Amino acid sequence: MPVAEQPGLTELLQPVRGRLLAAMLLQVLAALVGLLPLIAVAELAPLLLAGELDVDRAGFWLLAGGGALLLRLLGLAAGLQITHLADSDLQRHLRQRIAAHLARVPLAWLDGQRQTAERVLLEDVGALHQLVAHLPNNLVAALVVPLASLIYLLTVSLPMTLVVLAPPLVALWRLRVMRTPAYHAERQRLGAAMGALSTATLNFVQSIAMVKSFGRVERVQDDFFKAVEDFGRFFSQWVERWAGLGASVEVLLSPLLVLALVLVGGVALIAGGGLQPAQLLAFALLGPALAAPVAALGHGADSLVQGRAAAQRISAVLSTPVLAQPAFSREPEGALVTFDSVDFSYPDGTQVLRGIDLRLQPGTLTALVGDSGAGKSTLATLLARFADVSAGAIRIGGVDLRDMDSATLYRQVAFVFQEVRLLRASVLDNLRLGRPEASLAEVEEAARAAQIHERICALPEGYHTLLGTGVQLSGGEVQRLGIARAMLSQAPILVLDEATAASDPQSEAAIQQALSRLAAGRTVLVIAHRLSSIQDADQIAVLQGGQLRECGRHQALLDQQGVYAGLWAAEQFGAAPLTRALS
Ligand code: ADP
Repeated sequence: MPVAEQPGLTELLQPVRGRLLAAMLLQVLAALVGLLPLIAVAELAPLLLAGELDVDRAGFWLLAGGGALLLRLLGLAAGLQITHLADSDLQRHLRQRIAAHLARVPLAWLDGQRQTAERVLLEDVGALHQLVAHLPNNLVAALVVPLASLIYLLTVSLPMTLVVLAPPLVALWRLRVMRTPAYHAERQRLGAAMGALSTATLNFVQSIAMVKSFGRVERVQDDFFKAVEDFGRFFSQWVERWAGLGASVEVLLSPLLVLALVLVGGVALIAGGGLQPAQLLAFALLGPALAAPVAALGHGADSLVQGRAAAQRISAVLSTPVLAQPAFSREPEGALVTFDSVDFSYPDGTQVLRGIDLRLQPGTLTALVGDSGAGKSTLATLLARFADVSAGAIRIGGVDLRDMDSATLYRQVAFVFQEVRLLRASVLDNLRLGRPEASLAEVEEAARAAQIHERICALPEGYHTLLGTGVQLSGGEVQRLGIARAMLSQAPILVLDEATAASDPQSEAAIQQALSRLAAGRTVLVIAHRLSSIQDADQIAVLQGGQLRECGRHQALLDQQGVYAGLWAAEQFGAAPLTRALS
């Protein structure tokens, strides 16, 4: 399988990089221009305090300050507008890119990682918002403004600049602990403690109905309370350790402290003749800005860390290996299915199938039987290319599945598994998924054969009823919709899970009937859970520990007195007491 290289943050942001740079440049200009009004006030003060007003100079500073303020506001608005538009474009682009990638990853991966995919599409793409829409502006505000202020203040008075620079420097020194491995370890423990609490909460909420029915609420309640207490204890320790630091840094960075220092230090310097009284204003106005970079280390860094973590998860999904599509798709000739020396291992390394050789003759029904965990579902889903074989080959009509594109493959193979997924679309569109061009008459015919036509007609808007919006269908009804969908697809090969028929006793007979109509004339591979229902199968393939042990018709296998005969005896023996108990 081709492995995509894991894209980094820079690569993810590539589509909007130009706009982010432009926005940053605009922000730098806006930030610099934004200092002018403050400088203007500082320059105006001595003019206003002087005995005779220098109208020309005062007018200049008034105009410069006012104009600059307007420019700054415009620059700020334009910068934010650019980054927000870039953010929305990037989110759209990434969602499309992720969706396109997910369409090519093996279905087996999607099955196991559905929650990851959901989280990445729903939350993580959105979590880049802080990074894209606000970080450029915040970064500029945190660096350019303080730097420019510092330069201006240095031109006014060096000693006074040192006075206002002291608190942020002390805060920075206090925060040095944040760069130690011990602090990082502690933060990770906080994250883990929060994770444990949310898992316990989810577990509590999800299982409450189930444990209530057994009268054992305390069981999960106790687990939940314990998790709450553990977290509470950990968090108190955390607060005890770090709250002092947080509070002292907050005080050091507060504008009020700077003002107090300006007042005390300023008066002393003025008394000593080292500063003009009016110059004090510049420090009172610009001094607090010097704390911005240190303050940004806290909150700004947090959003950067979260954004990076989200970007990493997005990258991981985007680098999931995809199923290779052939450059030229070959058309199978006929519906003979062959498994040739098939081995299969899951990505975690578990080898599940070994040396499987099996032929499904066109128009016949093959049942896969074996203990739970024997590899039946894995084998059946390989035929629908949920994943690629690790060794050997599966062929339809002489063509390796890997030499067909998905459209060709799914024209050959339809499947009905236990969990039938319905789209948020009309019944009609859901049924026509595999053959959008099917006429209404054809859809109705498939629905009749699947024993679901009358139920559909009873829905508020019949075939045009929107599913997924309050229409309640039973599990059995949903399964029959899945069967109708497969029926309509006209694929000559059908892979199905017999458990489909067992899950809803009321409609079991209807589903059974629907399935046998669906199977008629097709090459069928069925995962069988009850041997009694597949006695008439053309061949029964017996799996044990991932290997094909026996293959033949029911009677022949019984006569062999091997694995199948053992399974059969166990089923007869196991079923009897329960049947008697119920009768
Ligand atoms: P059966 O359908 O016969 O019950 P399965 O094909 O579901 O058996 O499973 C065969 C083996 O493969 C089991 O040991 C199971 O634990 C393992 N298995 C199934 N799915 C996965 C997966 N996604 N990742 C790793 N191992 C898996």
